[in-house]
Amino acid sequence: MDIFIAYIVLGTTCTSVIFLYKYVINRHFNRLSRDDLTQRAIGWSLLWPILIFYSLPKIGLNTLFDKHEDFGFSGSIEKRQAELLSLWESPPYCSNFIETRGYDESAFEELASKLQFDACDIRDYLNELGPRSEFNVMNQDAIILKWINNRNTDSYDISRVPEELDRFSNTANSLLFKGIGKAYCEECQVEYLANQLNCISDKLSPGWNFKRLECCRGHLLSKVKGIHLNCRPK
Ligand SMILES: [Zn+2]
Repeated sequence: MDIFIAYIVLGTTCTSVIFLYKYVINRHFNRLSRDDLTQRAIGWSLLWPILIFYSLPKIGLNTLFDKHEDFGFSGSIEKRQAELLSLWESPPYCSNFIETRGYDESAFEELASKLQFDACDIRDYLNELGPRSEFNVMNQDAIILKWINNRNTDSYDISRVPEELDRFSNTANSLLFKGIGKAYCEECQVEYLANQLNCISDKLSPGWNFKRLECCRGHLLSKVKGIHLNCRPK
């Protein structure tokens, strides 16, 4: 019994320290509701060894406060898996042109921009990454590739990305960073080629950064979180 009490006290203490540190540094909790924060506090207090020895070293402090289903405790992972599996088993048709709205992963909101790509460019980029050709709920590359390969190559209409493929914002951002595709800024009402955009990488926490794309007048068109897999100490 004493060991159990010590376990809970340690969990509660480390959770309180993390919350306090986050609040002192950022003065906010990434728009998480009181219910979200309560669920996380209870989950972390009970599962603190996972938090300390796995989550923190791997994903960093900031990500723990992301409003992301993967880090919730509400059973939403099962719902998400079912939606993606349905898309994997019967991908909807798309055309040769793919469009998605710009997204800001730090504010969790859509931006006043449209990002457009040739389906062949998306296919080539994803093939280069070499995703395993099997369903994976944590990495949507194979699902996106299967959807793109299922396109109607005779159609030159514009296709919107299915809502379930929320990681496409990351693919779109990476393509534009590589100079592929174009972006329409709704504030300028101007279409820009990828190589006309400003590509900015902001350091976030060890291993993590935000990759921002702005038009030449400074309007934010896309912002996603990335990880440096090949970081070398300077
Ligand atoms: Zn603009």
